[in-house]
Amino acid sequence: MKIVTTLSELRAARAGLPEPVGFVPTMGYLHAGHLSLARRAKEECASVVASIFVNPTQFGSGEDLSKYPRDLARDLSLLESAVVDLVWTPTPEVMYPPTFQTWVTVEELTKGLEGAARPGHFRGVTTVVAKLFNAVQPHKAYFGQKDAQQAAVICQMTKDLDFPIEIVVCPTVREADGLAMSSRNAYLNPDECMAATVLFRALSVAKSAYDKGERGAEILRRIMTETITAEPLAKLQYVSCADYDTLQELETVAGKALLSMAVFIGKTRLIDNFVIGETVSLRE
Ligand code: AMP
Repeated sequence: MKIVTTLSELRAARAGLPEPVGFVPTMGYLHAGHLSLARRAKEECASVVASIFVNPTQFGSGEDLSKYPRDLARDLSLLESAVVDLVWTPTPEVMYPPTFQTWVTVEELTKGLEGAARPGHFRGVTTVVAKLFNAVQPHKAYFGQKDAQQAAVICQMTKDLDFPIEIVVCPTVREADGLAMSSRNAYLNPDECMAATVLFRALSVAKSAYDKGERGAEILRRIMTETITAEPLAKLQYVSCADYDTLQELETVAGKALLSMAVFIGKTRLIDNFVIGETVSLRE
């Protein structure tokens, strides 16, 4: 496995890789969710490139950029075990030199949910992913359903900007108790870890109501809200029952829909989602 930092090293190493090339962008502090993306890429592509970059432009001013967990040595050994061929670990100076002034924004899909809760977040995400795509020039790029709106926004950007890249969205990997794996779970103490299962429980209760025939989106949102507010360590930021393609809030669930939420467990902000409904999505 080759490890590179500068853009010229990356380009030189990328040029020698067998194609097709699969790409897995990450912010590091890797867990089984990230590795599932790398393994899927390995199954589908001749070579796999991963990036590790804690992207400062996607963090708001009061957010956790400075304390975001990092362990490069551990990450590299995990990526090697997932048979990644090339790892790019650019520095902030490589990605954002002092003269940097160009941004990529996806308009409609970023207005609600995470975009509303974290102003400027998706501008940072789409800008860095566009730069990573241009540098790595992969044939396929792998993202997690865990960050459902991010996956939708990246699909839209890829289509709108004509990147010749197939976006592959992979299922959310969970702990045995249902907690979605996340680098931010490292912030949780043991009590908070138990409380954090409330996101999965709330989504499960709403999904079983849907499975039993409930189609009222407000009722599904209320079911999730009630489950979250019953957990003393949890503070709800938002719940949503939205159209899967447009991410607009629904009144009635008729096709494919996204149940999603952001919840503070103590000081740690967690997100999770389930997809419900059977209709084929425009994004697939
Ligand atoms: P991050 O390092 O948090 O920016 O995540 C890098 C990629 O891994 C993104 O595409 C995430 O959606 C994906 N990811 C994060 N957590 C999970 C998970 N639990 N299951 C599947 N994919 C995940």
